[in-house]
Amino acid sequence: MDCNEVVKKIKNFINGEMESREILLFTEHIANCPHCKEELSIEFLVVEGLKKLDSAAAFDLQKELDELIETSIRDAEQQMQRKRILIWFGIFLAVAFGYVISTFFY
Ligand SMILES: [Zn+2]
Repeated sequence: MDCNEVVKKIKNFINGEMESREILLFTEHIANCPHCKEELSIEFLVVEGLKKLDSAAAFDLQKELDELIETSIRDAEQQMQRKRILIWFGIFLAVAFGYVISTFFY
């Protein structure tokens, strides 16, 4: 993912509208690119800051952003892992099914 793509997807990331594979590419880029990290911080501050303007509670948006990134990565990794398990299970089923079918013919 290059900087242009990342910047375009910042809104999707903040709104949680991203696929797990994309999240991992996105967060990996953010971790290594100060420019995009800065863009993400600014966008996040604007979006979340506006939502919270009228709440009197003190808020630490930078920390919230870090938490959002962390939980996004964790969720995405879990989802990818689940998908991988499903794929392997599917392969196993296909092989087992193939084996059962083949026993009918030999
Ligand atoms: Zn970048």
